[in-house]
Amino acid sequence: MTTFVIAGAGLAGAKAAETLRAEGFTGRVALIGTETEIPYERPPLSKGLLLGTADRASAYVHEAGWYAEHDVELRTGTTVAAIDREKHRVRLSDGDDLAYDKLLLATGASPRQLAVPGAQLGNVLYLRTLADSDRISATVRDGTRLVVIGSGWIGLEVTAAARSRGAAVTVVTPAALPLEKVLGDRLAGVFAGLHREHGVDFRFGSEVRELRGDTDVAQVVLADGSTLDADAVLVAIGVTPNTGLADQARLGVDNGVLVDARLCTDDPDIFAAGDLANIDHPLLGARIRVEHWATALHTGPVAARAMLGQDARWDRLPYFFTDQYDLGMEYSGWVPPGGKAEVIIRGDEQGREFLAFWTVDGRVAAGMNVNIWDVNEQIQDLVRAGLGGATVDPARLADPAVALPDLLP
Ligand SMILES: Cc1cc2nc3c(=O)[nH]c(=O)nc-3n(C[C@H](O)[C@H](O)[C@H](O)COP(=O)(O)OP(=O)(O)OC[C@H]3O[C@@H](n4cnc5c(N)ncnc54)[C@H](O)[C@@H]3O)c2cc1C
Repeated sequence: MTTFVIAGAGLAGAKAAETLRAEGFTGRVALIGTETEIPYERPPLSKGLLLGTADRASAYVHEAGWYAEHDVELRTGTTVAAIDREKHRVRLSDGDDLAYDKLLLATGASPRQLAVPGAQLGNVLYLRTLADSDRISATVRDGTRLVVIGSGWIGLEVTAAARSRGAAVTVVTPAALPLEKVLGDRLAGVFAGLHREHGVDFRFGSEVRELRGDTDVAQVVLADGSTLDADAVLVAIGVTPNTGLADQARLGVDNGVLVDARLCTDDPDIFAAGDLANIDHPLLGARIRVEHWATALHTGPVAARAMLGQDARWDRLPYFFTDQYDLGMEYSGWVPPGGKAEVIIRGDEQGREFLAFWTVDGRVAAGMNVNIWDVNEQIQDLVRAGLGGATVDPARLADPAVALPDLLP
């Protein structure tokens, strides 16, 4: 029987399994995952689950019974330990060995570890898994002094949730503003203001030198020698793609597993999707690795269709969303690194109800809607038009009286 093996039972892996069955594949589907949970989505881990507004079941990609009902062999608590490309076999951590016709790597990413003295102390927390989220819920309470190291999306979302739980939060970051690298100064300032209004203390331009404590962390020592008292520390300094299997199998790896738009690696029988995949994007004309929910959601199915020999390719625009306090935002598009982008705002920036556009050479490269809804598709149309070479008049782009579709060529 034809066997498709999926290594990694996260969102990308589970959606790939779903697509294989939806497309009528009747062979064997083995979905192998290190975690003991059935596949789940991670966005609620830093939002609804910490805020108490979502329950655990809402995070699951499918109900527990779905896998057996669709004849998907889900093996949780099992790691794919090695790939033998010549024999077309994978070795599992439980000693089992599986033959594959096609193999999908969907092993995701892991949090970067803090490498300073004291990093192993108790109450030094990370957030990637449901178990991590449970640990944060159990640790961060009313009055907890939480130091968040890192001012990216995860750090800020946990900061917002921790404030709502009544914790006192200090964010330590080497950056001059939160999210500075992804959003640039002006929009990063919006997020800094939002968190300050909610009582967050920022230590910008700061590195952590050491964590001190007996069993649990009690103090964070910064590079300038100053100290912060802490009951808990969240380390949120980014993730690295889990490329171990691909490295071992000598597949092309460079900041993730290198794949074409069909999500195929340099081995025609091995594919990669989700956070792991460094994709040659057909519209952007560049390789990108996107660590966002929507990419896992859509690349899993594209990989599944490509594995079935269909003419599938991933040509969606990168999309991201976040929720912090009463601010909800979506972002679509891609600004080339080092590209000189101009930021154009439409709407009420102070009141945090606005659209922001990044234009490069007069073309919309990316756009973001903050507390304004049902416009992200229109923003994506503008980005696609920009990729096709269309320029926009900045004054009309900034004018809320001009409907976004009227800016299309
Ligand atoms: C707390 C949190 C909040 C987030 N919020 C947002 C958000 O608001 N918006 C947004 O756009 N994105 C968000 N993201 C990002 C989004 O969740 C990820 O992009 C997405 O989870 C990637 O899915 P994936 O399937 O590629 O990888 P993962 O979700 O990492 O799943 C990979 C799975 O593979 C397993 N695995 C690894 N190695 C092996 C192996 N050798 N064998 C078997 N299994 C293996 C891992 O244990 C893991 O379970 C958030 C992420 C986190 C952690």
